[in-house]
Amino acid sequence: MFLAGKKTSILKSETSKEVICPKCNTEKSTKVFIIGVYKHLIQIPFLSGGKYGESICSNCNQVYTLKNMPDSIKLAYYELKETVKTPIWFYIGLIIVKTLVLVKIFSKYF
Ligand SMILES: [Zn+2]
Repeated sequence: MFLAGKKTSILKSETSKEVICPKCNTEKSTKVFIIGVYKHLIQIPFLSGGKYGESICSNCNQVYTLKNMPDSIKLAYYELKETVKTPIWFYIGLIIVKTLVLVKIFSKYF
């Protein structure tokens, strides 16, 4: 049984209006995804593990990951990424632990 590990969650997706699919030359068919990675402990998200991107063409189903993504799609990815914040629940485990520590510290004085 794995108590800790990594999980991913799609943070945002958008069909780019500017990108033309390099494979099938279709306009407005490329959907860009911003995917957040988080590390979890006993299924509770603990730490953000960064973000990565993927794109898929709805016409020819061509998938690109950030590594092999053509520049035009990469540009759309970075533009979309600018608008995405790491969700607070990625750190929920850390927040709980910090709160517990604070409660313990304060309980000494009261
Ligand atoms: Zn395509």
